[in-house]
Order: sequence, then C-alpha cells, then structure tokens
Amino acid sequence: QPAAAGWKLDNSYSRLPDLLFTRQEPAPVKAPKIILFNRELAETLGLDASSLQSPEGAAVLAGNELPQGAEPLAQAYAGHQFGYFNMLGDGRAVLLGEQLTPAGGRYDIQLKGSGRTPYSRGGDGRAALGPMLREYIISEAMHGLGIPTTRSLAVTATGQEIQRELSLPGAVLTRVAASHIRVGTFQYAAQWGTSEDVRTLADYTIARHYPHVKDAEQSYLSLLQEVIRRQASLISQWQLVGFIHGVMNTDNMTLSGESIDYGPCAFMDAYHPSTVFSSIDSQGRYAYGKQPYIGAWNLARLAEALLPLIHEDVNKAAELAEEEIAKFGVWFEDSWLHGMRAKLGLFNEHQDDQELITDLLDLMAEHRADFTNTFRALTLGEDTEMQAIEAFQRWQERWKKRQRQQEESLEAAWRLMRGSNPAVIPRNHRVEEALQAAEQGDLSVIKRLLEVLSHPYIYSSLQQPYCDPPEPTGRAYRTYCGT
Ligand code: AMP
Ligand code: MG
Ligand code: MG
Repeated sequence: QPAAAGWKLDNSYSRLPDLLFTRQEPAPVKAPKIILFNRELAETLGLDASSLQSPEGAAVLAGNELPQGAEPLAQAYAGHQFGYFNMLGDGRAVLLGEQLTPAGGRYDIQLKGSGRTPYSRGGDGRAALGPMLREYIISEAMHGLGIPTTRSLAVTATGQEIQRELSLPGAVLTRVAASHIRVGTFQYAAQWGTSEDVRTLADYTIARHYPHVKDAEQSYLSLLQEVIRRQASLISQWQLVGFIHGVMNTDNMTLSGESIDYGPCAFMDAYHPSTVFSSIDSQGRYAYGKQPYIGAWNLARLAEALLPLIHEDVNKAAELAEEEIAKFGVWFEDSWLHGMRAKLGLFNEHQDDQELITDLLDLMAEHRADFTNTFRALTLGEDTEMQAIEAFQRWQERWKKRQRQQEESLEAAWRLMRGSNPAVIPRNHRVEEALQAAEQGDLSVIKRLLEVLSHPYIYSSLQQPYCDPPEPTGRAYRTYCGT
C-alpha cells in the first residue's frame, strides 16, 4: 500500500507478553469491493480517503494486502458468556496495528471477518455482509448520539459466499477502537498468566487510557475506579437513549469505556424495562432494565482479575475492590439522573425529581409508549401517545410546575431538551429495510439512513420519515448474533 494512504502504524500491543496474542495474517479473499466507507473517520485518522478507496486500498481493507507498518495479530481473551467462563480470543478478527493520528491519538485498526485464527474454535473466521453493515450503522449512530463507541471505517465485500443457515455474501468490517482491551483480556491474563502478566497488561492499559493514575498511590485500584466510572457513565447513556446491547458478556466490555460488539443489539421502540431483542437471551439476562446490574457484575470480574495487584493480603484486596464496585451504583444513578433531568429540561436538582421521572417511566411502560417519541414530543411541545390519559395529564402538570421552579427560561429548557433527546434513533425496521436494499445492491437507502443518524439532535423535517415506530406485526423483533 503506497505511503500516500497515510498509514502511520505502531504495534505496541505486539510488544506485550506473548500469551496475550498470536501473530496472524488476515486470509486473502476473492474480490474485494468497498461497500461503505467513512470519509470523516478516515480524515480524523490521518488516512487518505481516495487512496484507500482505490483497488489497492480495497485490497488492504479486505486483508489481501498489509498496510505499511502492520504487524497483524489476533488477541487472546477469555470471558463470561451468559455467566459461564470460557476461553475466547479473536476468532474472526486481526489487529493490523495502531494508527497514530494527526491529533496525537492512537487507534486500533482491526479487520473483522478476516479469516480463521488459533482462537476460532469451530468457527469459519468469516462474517456476513448484513451483520457487518448493521454494526457500521449502529456504531456510527452511537457516535452521532455522542456515546463513546468503537467506530467503523469501512465494510468491504469479499466476493465470497459464507455458509450459515443459508449461503450469504461475506464481508470484512474495518473497526476502529481506542483499544480492544476487554474485561475478558484481564480475565485471560489472570487465569493463564502470572500476576506479572496481569501487571504488565494493567500498566499498558493505564499508559494507554488512564495515564493520570500512573503515579497514584494505589494505581491499580485507581485503574479499577476509572473503568467503573467510565462504564457507569456509558451504561447510563445507553439507558437514556433506549439502547439494548444484547450480549453484555465480559469479553464485550472494554477498559476504555467504549461500547463494543454490535451483534444482537437494538434500540427499543415501545418502552418497557424487560425488553429483550436477542434470540439467544431467552432468560432476559441482558434485558434493558438489567444492564446496570450486569455492568456492575462484569466489573466485579475485572476486580477479581486485578486482586493480586491491589494488595498482597487477598482479604484486604477484596475489601478494597468491593468498596470500588459499590460505587458503580452511585455513579450510575448520578449520571442517569443528571441525564434524565436534562431530557426533561431541568437544570437544578430537586428531591422529588426521582419520583417525577419514575412516574413518567411507569406510565410509559404501562401504555407501551414509544421511548424516543415520548421525549421528542415533550421537547416539541406536541401531544404524546398518552395525551388522552388522565394520569399522564396530571404528570404533565407536575412537570410544567417543576420547570417553572427554576431560574432558567423555558427557552433554555427547550434547548437543553433538544440537546438531550434525539429526534431519531436507528429503528430496527429502518435498519432492516436499509440492509435489505443494500443486499440487493441498492446502497442509497443505507446512505440516507446514515446521514440522518449522524445528526440526531438537529430537529428537522427531513427526519420525519425516520421517526415513526414500526407498524405492529404481532411478532416481536428478534436479533441474531454469530453471523
Ligand atoms: P461475540 O459473541 O461476538 O462476542 O463472539 C464470541 C466469540 O466467538 C469471539 O471469540 C469471536 O471471535 C468468536 N466468533 C464469532 N463468530 C465467529 C466465526 N464466524 N468464526 C470464528 N470465531 C467466531
Ligand atoms: Mg465479542
Ligand atoms: Mg459479536
């Protein structure tokens, strides 16, 4: 790949202890063809969009050629999947290296769907076009919503079919992340490495994501604390837009605090805390309302892996770690409450706010009101679906009275609400429609959708067609992973 593409790769991960990865080249594919390309992201990364979209560029994005400076590897990790501990690792992905950006950032460039690795177990190492396009849409929508997330640089079709229940077109996603260090990476090091390996990984994570804790008195406890803080904030942001991750296994939780792994995720239409979309989550372990608890559970697994670094006396270490885990709930609640106040245009704090918010959510759950559209209607001063319901009218009076109990003008409250309530989210029926068109070769639908999702807080008439909830089908929407 010519230097003109702007690659400036470092490979700091490959200098970590051997047990954490295996050197692995991507497997070449038949006929690379770029389906989606993220110009804006390419620019932030210091990459040249036209060069990357040339046939030589497509060969790199498909894994047929390596970019200058790449030392590809598959990362090892473990993870609790639906509560059960397993040895995992990149079974269908390779890390090409870390792109050093013009602004001084460092981002993992990963190819997902790039062939088998030593961690593939029974899998074919490949990915289907539909799910990779879906990850592109949802991750970029999350970015548009201002929520920390891995991003998507490109989806490149391979020109090869992959075998699932049906034969499907294959693709490679170019995923960009602050890093791919997961709770499961620490679990892996703790399970199969020495405490020195865990320490090396922790020092690496601190240097990369939390350099300010390096010289703290208890730097590993501080690392745990920082991750807990970021995850509490992240999960509260999911709750505030009705995002359901769907597969919050410990290998799908990053140390950086970015959302990762858009397999069976989906945004909720009608509000209910027990909402689940994933076909494999029959127990509702990862239901919308449970996400904060699962977050804390996963972070306790991180704490366990860090115990030997926290204190030489294991009981003391556990005590210190437990104190940190207990803060998750407090930080989550703070961050969520702050966000919910903003959604209702409230600047100051009042002791009755929690009740005001809960009462609205209870009404929404009872009447299965659309999550996004309820807040959108409140923002626009339009009628909600619940307008005819007396209990809702009483709630609205309380809310208006509460709004008047602050110094800020109604105009300021309206601006706060607009900035906190997205007018559009990637609704499942719109995403499906875009994927179907793309699979038929029509990319105009997905491109329009991506454009709309990139500015969710700008209220405009162009968004109108994307605001409607799905027509009732009598069937629940289901997502699938592992394709
Ligand atoms: P996920 O459910 O996406 O978090 O993936 C769980 C594990 O399965 C990870 O180790 C993946 O790399 C692996 N995996 C998923 N799909 C495949 C595939 N088609 N081939 C090989 N490994 C896979
Ligand atoms: Mg995963
Ligand atoms: Mg996945």
